[in-house]
Amino acid sequence: MTSTHPHPVITDESPSADANRRGPSFEASHELATGPVTSPPRTVDGFVREFLDQLNFGQGVKLSQSTINDQYLALARTVRSYLMASWLETGHRRRKNPTRIVGYLSAEYLLGRQLGNNLLASDLQGIAEQAMEQCGIDMAALRGQEVEPGLGNGGLGRLAACFVDSLATMDQPCIGYGIRYEYGIFRQTFVEGRQVEEPDSWLRLGSPWEFPHPERAVQVGFGGHTETSVDEDGTEHTRWVPAWQVRGVPYHYMVPGFRNGVVNTLRLWSAEANQAFDLQTFNAGDYAQASRAEIFAENISKVLYPDDSTPQGKELRLQQQYFFVACSLRDFIENTLPRDVDLRELPQRIIFQLNDTHPVIAVPELMRILVDEKGFDWDEAWDITQQCFAYTCHTLLPEALEVWPVDLLGRLLPRHLEIIYRINEEFLLEVRDAFPGDEGRVRRMSIIAEQPQRAVRMAYLATVAGAKVNGVAELHSQLLRDDVLPDFHAMWPEKFTNVTNGITPRRFLYLANRRLSDLINETIGTGWVTDLEQLRQLEPYADDADFRQRFRDVKHANKERLSKLLRVRDGIELSQDHLLDVMVKRLHEYKRQTLKLLHVVSVYEGVLSGRTPIDQVTPRTVLFGAKAAPGYHMAKEIIFLINSVAETVNTDPVMDGRLQVLFPANYNVTLAEKVIPAADLSEQISLAGKEASGTGNMKFALNGALTIGTLDGANVEILDLVGEDNFFLFGMTEPEVEELRQRGYVPSSFYEADPVLKATIDLIGSGHFTGGDRGAVSAVLDNLLNHDPFMALAGFGSYLEAQDRVERAYADPEAWSRSTILNVARCGFFSSDRSMRDYLDRIWLPGDA
Ligand SMILES: *Cc1c(COP(=O)(O)O)cnc(C)c1O
Repeated sequence: MTSTHPHPVITDESPSADANRRGPSFEASHELATGPVTSPPRTVDGFVREFLDQLNFGQGVKLSQSTINDQYLALARTVRSYLMASWLETGHRRRKNPTRIVGYLSAEYLLGRQLGNNLLASDLQGIAEQAMEQCGIDMAALRGQEVEPGLGNGGLGRLAACFVDSLATMDQPCIGYGIRYEYGIFRQTFVEGRQVEEPDSWLRLGSPWEFPHPERAVQVGFGGHTETSVDEDGTEHTRWVPAWQVRGVPYHYMVPGFRNGVVNTLRLWSAEANQAFDLQTFNAGDYAQASRAEIFAENISKVLYPDDSTPQGKELRLQQQYFFVACSLRDFIENTLPRDVDLRELPQRIIFQLNDTHPVIAVPELMRILVDEKGFDWDEAWDITQQCFAYTCHTLLPEALEVWPVDLLGRLLPRHLEIIYRINEEFLLEVRDAFPGDEGRVRRMSIIAEQPQRAVRMAYLATVAGAKVNGVAELHSQLLRDDVLPDFHAMWPEKFTNVTNGITPRRFLYLANRRLSDLINETIGTGWVTDLEQLRQLEPYADDADFRQRFRDVKHANKERLSKLLRVRDGIELSQDHLLDVMVKRLHEYKRQTLKLLHVVSVYEGVLSGRTPIDQVTPRTVLFGAKAAPGYHMAKEIIFLINSVAETVNTDPVMDGRLQVLFPANYNVTLAEKVIPAADLSEQISLAGKEASGTGNMKFALNGALTIGTLDGANVEILDLVGEDNFFLFGMTEPEVEELRQRGYVPSSFYEADPVLKATIDLIGSGHFTGGDRGAVSAVLDNLLNHDPFMALAGFGSYLEAQDRVERAYADPEAWSRSTILNVARCGFFSSDRSMRDYLDRIWLPGDA
């Protein structure tokens, strides 16, 4: 067995491939030659000088000739140059003092805009603003120039972004590994009320925050076959002979901690062809054929799969997954880990956190590296591997659990399939050992599913390989143990743990809500920014009438800001004095946007039919934001229905402007940062047992919105912390949902039994919102009346009753303000810093505490 590791296999003979090799002498001489890197002076003049240098020498323009984009790029590079010394110093410090680092493996990072965050982290906001003013530049216009990197779908990708932010702020070593998609989540527009997707070309005007490192490129193989040979002492060796290879080029992004001199790295991989084109074919005139390899390779990191929770089992998706984990493992073992480290010590140097099942193919990849390339025997390799991974499950929906058909996996990654089979064989022996004679259990637990086709269950593979398995909220972790992976829990109860999700207070409070942060800073100081539990000190101010007034002033100003934005962005008018009722999140049936819509229509129908006098309607604006997966037909029909209802309700004089439905297109992090601080009411109304955690719910509560919600995901913990008086709870509990399903759920019986529900649905069914066209709404209504898999009709009655409570509470501004202040004060628990602390204590460094 060899324990030191040779250079990576270099197949390309061009001299540039050698650039992949690091020499310690290079680094040493470099540092000797240049000395420590220094930042530009932290003065307005220093900032201006650096900015003009970036404009002149980086962009090649004079200030007088520069475009807004030139100025934005120069400003971004200026901020970068202030962070650079910290970045290099952090790397240097980490290399000198090796500890177990976190390799966060995530196919998605929904980062949001970088400029504001990096100015905040480096404490340069004030200086930058004055500097731009000196240059006669409108800073807001430059901020608006940045296209957010939408390299994620929703909550899962945003969570990864919050986590790397927290780890940097806590000075914990971490490399975030992922994919640099050329196109992120699609840009949503509406055409006649229907969603239209446009490619998100976020790189088109240049991306100043990334550092390409082609000299650190690695090779990734695909396809081919395996060969087995026997050496002199009779030991079998297997070797994978891939049919084709692509180059993974890393792009580095800075992840600055909050004003602590720490900058961690996010390393995103881009796929390139080893040979751009075939020169012979090109010369012969077949241009398309000549570029085939290039197109094929570059397709791998071309576009993010826009599906939030129903994996399609597409080959390209598996290529993406393997591509980025193979790059990341190679990068860590060959380029990050010092050469002299014995790979038996790998678990002391790295813990790879698997963000859902997307990166789970890293498990057989590490086994392949250890056994086939480094000569470890199987058992020792497995022992190492099991200590190097931990798995976070993000769902409860069975259709969201990834499986890969063995024929597909075997074709693309033949050696990995062999390794998975062996892992499974040995694992099933263990099961038989632990539960003799229980073949039913063995079949249930097999990593290989036999029905409906032979396929690898990635969640099972992750659970078998992972040192720990966690859910993302208390209720979710419990359901994971009881319903999703009960056999695994029975076998290894100690493997299972919970870490409730969190959000970064830097982006979602400090940056997004400057007015509230200023008020908080003035009241309790700034310690909360890195220790969010300090918000508790706000509790007594809930009883201070003056503070409540200032809190309301903040909310009002945030509504004004949102109003201005929506006017320019979407041509929408937002009424300032309405209750702002917000439901923003991916569109999915389980999240129940239709339940929210039924409420809206019932209010309208009440007025229309004369049941409700118009002066009894609380003036309310309902704001939706949601993208639907392009292939998710029902979700797109729901979007159309929301837009149809909005158009009718907003313009019908019978409502006297008291009910407005707004649906700005293209909900993303940038919009979230403007919408959430303005909201009064946060809609978190998923069917109990379906939302793993939610993080939108946390963002709202921390920005002084009250939640109307079910006992689902992290709502349970929010309710627990803020108290029943400060939360509008409704709906069935998860056991009640199960009980109703067992009894046999008949949605039409709810329709028949509740006249308001019946009138509401009938109004939609009459074509009232679709110009008389009943067919345009039939898919949604048929589904609700005949299937209603997420029990919206069963929830309707208690939801309306809760909305009545909302309106009564809102009618008393002092009591409402008191509740909102208590929400802010009591939700410090939902900082992603606390989530990271929990990961460190329970998963990454247990025993260190
Ligand atoms: C926080 C966030 C989400 C997650 O929202 P949920 O309500 O938890 O589903 C999705 N998209 C964006 C842009 C977010 O900022």
